[in-house]
Amino acid sequence: MIILKIGGSILTNKDSLESEVDSSSLKRIAVEIKSSLDKSDKELIIVHGAGSFGHPPAKKYRIGEAFEESEYPQKRIGFCETQNAVKKLNMLICEEFIREGLPVVAIPASSFMTATNKRITHGNLDSFRRYLKKGFIPVIYGDVVLDDELEICVISGDQLIQYLAMNLNPDRVILATDVDGVYNKNPKTHDDAVFFEKFSSLEDLDTLEGTTNVDVTGGMVGKIKELLYLADLGIESKIINAEVENNIYKVLENENVKGTVISRGN
Ligand code: ADP
Repeated sequence: MIILKIGGSILTNKDSLESEVDSSSLKRIAVEIKSSLDKSDKELIIVHGAGSFGHPPAKKYRIGEAFEESEYPQKRIGFCETQNAVKKLNMLICEEFIREGLPVVAIPASSFMTATNKRITHGNLDSFRRYLKKGFIPVIYGDVVLDDELEICVISGDQLIQYLAMNLNPDRVILATDVDGVYNKNPKTHDDAVFFEKFSSLEDLDTLEGTTNVDVTGGMVGKIKELLYLADLGIESKIINAEVENNIYKVLENENVKGTVISRGN
């Protein structure tokens, strides 16, 4: 089984305040995944981020922050707006994937997962296993869920990766984003950023700067933290650049692709 996360940075125009899908990237990625599945059958789960669809409403309503009982009606609407926005993105993604012949089935986190203090604590994954067995590609995405402590919270695609990998024991965990992998500082704002082929500790970063994008879930640092949890469990993951043509195809085919492997080993 392969768990593949496609970052919101690739699928949407994250810098825009409008909810825009990057249609050409989406189509290319769908074609790359299809080509790999045509070459050989693979059990695949796809996770995608919320990008420019989910972040603005989540930020506007400050989902995940503590609030007074009197604010509940407004927070509830914020939850619904966010849930609906990410569902729309998911629908556009699934539409394109199905057009390319990928048997995707959406399993939204808000419909079956709950959290405690922003960490997923419940979420029965039996339906993932059953759909996989029948040859489907389950798709889950950054979403809002009920929280035992905070009432509601945002769950990032990166946290979903961590939860799924911890519970489903995949052979490979791949994260596709818009940079080649992890650098000692943000490569988009620092020309002298140094690239890591292997990454095993947050101490290797120069700064804990998140990302230049509108993001409520932590950017690269948030991603690395989730992957280090996995590394602690002995599950290795790899971050690659999906803006480079054929990288998704190659990584699915286990061909050599530039990227950062996150593991605790040397
Ligand atoms: P995605 O939406 O693909 O999950 P994010 O936008 O959340 O990805 O995070 C990727 C972004 O993180 C990159 O575009 C980059 O600008 C930023 N970033 C910040 N610090 C780093 C770093 N040390 N190494 C690599 N990327 C970084």
